[in-house]
Amino acid sequence: MGPFDWLPHAPLEPLALDWLNGVELAVLRLDRIDPLISGNKWFKLTEHLAQAQRAGASGVISLGGAYSNHLHALAAAGKRFGFPTVGLLRGHAQDTATVQDLKAFGMQLHWLGYGGYRARHEPGFWEPWRALYPHLYSVPEGGGGLAGAVGCGVLVEQAREQLRNLGWADYDGWWLAAGTGTTLAGLVLAEAGAHPVFGAMAVPDDHGVAQNVSALVQGGYTLLDASRGGFAKVDPLLLDFIETTEQACGVPLEPLYTGKALLALKQQIEAGHIAPGTRLIFVHTGGLQGRRGLTA
Ligand SMILES: *Cc1c(COP(=O)(O)O)cnc(C)c1O
Repeated sequence: MGPFDWLPHAPLEPLALDWLNGVELAVLRLDRIDPLISGNKWFKLTEHLAQAQRAGASGVISLGGAYSNHLHALAAAGKRFGFPTVGLLRGHAQDTATVQDLKAFGMQLHWLGYGGYRARHEPGFWEPWRALYPHLYSVPEGGGGLAGAVGCGVLVEQAREQLRNLGWADYDGWWLAAGTGTTLAGLVLAEAGAHPVFGAMAVPDDHGVAQNVSALVQGGYTLLDASRGGFAKVDPLLLDFIETTEQACGVPLEPLYTGKALLALKQQIEAGHIAPGTRLIFVHTGGLQGRRGLTA
């Protein structure tokens, strides 16, 4: 498989919103890198795919849920670059828009049930799959780990190259949603202390984001809880914020990650925790494919 010499360009755009109170905000649009392959999941995959290629694999096997942005990006990449993909799915067969896309992209699906999926961290989990698909390279859930983080480092470069378009000489930090914290860790690695990275956690504390991140990097970041009661929990204030934001500036958000992250920023500004004049880069991590069926 490979080579994967496609490095998409994420546009950096100014973001004008009436609650910024003097904070200057730009958005790095990972949702706009490609019509099919969207978001941070492509960048998280790049280094995994390079490893798969070096290992002489013919394709990739990975896991996720019925709305998984990760499986969606992987399946789309498999179709684009002509390598086979296998997805191990959480729960019982469902026909979400995401699943329909996975099938259309040619991904081979196996539904593991809930118990079967929970066993994914157990020692013998991969053995039968390796026996069934000996030529496929396995990528962890969400494209995580150090390889996933390293693949996201290029985002720092891409943003810096575009600062001039905003009339910015520099910036004061990054703001983004964290699910596992892998993307955040990639920015922290690439910044090497130059600018702080703020992670708005889309999952509650007990999901181990802090541990994941501290296993990859030391310092240079701050995590705050933006989960609003749990992963994928949606409330009217959040949905209203997403709708208002899209109307105000044309940037579409979804309620699991990007909507919660930007709302958490608004609340931090309103609480006076971010000084006027601060220049922040908000990473739009994509995920819009997953919102089909979640919001109207
Ligand atoms: C997966 C995902 C995240 C979380 O990324 P991590 O690297 O796991 O922190 C954020 N936003 C969107 C849209 C995602 O799909």
